[in-house]
Amino acid sequence: MSTHYEVLQVSESASLDIIKQRFQQLILQHHPDKRTTTDDDNNVHKILKAWEILRNATSRKSYDIELATQRNKQDMAIGAEIDLDDMEYNEQTSSFALVCRCSGDYVITEEELELGIDIVACNNCSLRIRVLYDVIEED
Ligand SMILES: [Zn+2]
Repeated sequence: MSTHYEVLQVSESASLDIIKQRFQQLILQHHPDKRTTTDDDNNVHKILKAWEILRNATSRKSYDIELATQRNKQDMAIGAEIDLDDMEYNEQTSSFALVCRCSGDYVITEEELELGIDIVACNNCSLRIRVLYDVIEED
């Protein structure tokens, strides 16, 4: 099973603009006039479904959680466990980042932390880290 991100050939941290661009390109490629195989019907269905989920911030977020949960269950290779304190905080994006050994980045937003997400994938390679943190109750 491909993820919706894989179907649209974008990274999981891609912005909506990028996803939209990609979606439009793919849909054009699979335009009924250009279809050559019956396979394409299936692809178009997948592309539309992926776009439907990822275009909407709320459904994308719950899809991301679903993905993270699946990955947790599968216990996919977690490269390391990193303390949140060891990550670099970016005030502009309200997110924590860590440079991967491939020189890609692990980025986790405060919003994701609040949702209980603790697995972060590198935006450049297939490594993942688990972020260790205490839930902070806000007043
Ligand atoms: Zn990496």
